[in-house]
Amino acid sequence: MRVICTISEIREIIREWKKEGFSVGFVPTMGYLHEGHKSLIEKASSENQRVVVSTFVNPTQFGANEDLNKYPRDLERDTNLCEKAGAHIMFVPSADEMYPTTPLTFVNVNILTEGLCGEKRPGHFQGVCSVVTKLFNIITPNRAYFGEKDAQQLAVIRQMVKDLNMDVKIIGCPIIRENDGLAKSSRNTYLSDEERKAALILNKSLKHANELLLEGEKNTEKIIESIKSFIISEPLAKIDYVQIVDSETLKSVDKIEKPVLIAIAVFIGKTRLIDNFTWSN
Ligand code: AMP
Repeated sequence: MRVICTISEIREIIREWKKEGFSVGFVPTMGYLHEGHKSLIEKASSENQRVVVSTFVNPTQFGANEDLNKYPRDLERDTNLCEKAGAHIMFVPSADEMYPTTPLTFVNVNILTEGLCGEKRPGHFQGVCSVVTKLFNIITPNRAYFGEKDAQQLAVIRQMVKDLNMDVKIIGCPIIRENDGLAKSSRNTYLSDEERKAALILNKSLKHANELLLEGEKNTEKIIESIKSFIISEPLAKIDYVQIVDSETLKSVDKIEKPVLIAIAVFIGKTRLIDNFTWSN
């Protein structure tokens, strides 16, 4: 596996791969990789002859008061994980390589970005869509792999690819969790021991919602209120949002009739964590 830092070098390698007729799978990440990322890379490696993983902490998708400067990084660890998972190239551009001049062009997906994380993190999805477009243009993958952990991101990217006729197949991959149920996240590393225990409230509250749904509850307001009171029973937790939306349109629904996404964002201390599940019956 090779670590490549410049756009011109990776383009050259991909040109050679395409000449050979190799299919290319791509996994965009922000690095500090864990088993969740690994599952995406392994899937890419099972479905493509060549696999590129990018690790780029994209400044344009962070808000002014977010964790851009303290986002964890460990290139050596990431390199080992990528190699073991079957990647051929790790693309690790600098911010200057990706943004040599201030960009004046952005990609925006409307409507789907109005609620959930889009509402709480203004500008976030513009940053994501713009950088993913740049990465797609650089890597020209046949397939790109995204986690369902970021369910809104996956829906937004699918829409962008469809609307802009991008020649890449988007593949969603299931959420990978710790043994105790906490969704794996690079940001889990911010948690103290006490916060790590408290963070279990995210998955527990979703399991609780799942039980209500299994019992036949259809009223989303009741389910939301029940999730909220579950979460606030944990003193270290502060709710950012609890929403139940149509799993395709991401619009809020009052009554559960079609598949829905139940999505939450919760601060545990200063760390913002997200989790979700899709319900269809
Ligand atoms: P990130 O590095 O956090 O930007 O994530 C890069 C990709 O990995 C995104 O498509 C995420 O949805 C995906 N991902 C992150 N955590 C997980 C997880 N626990 N399970 C599955 N996919 C994940």
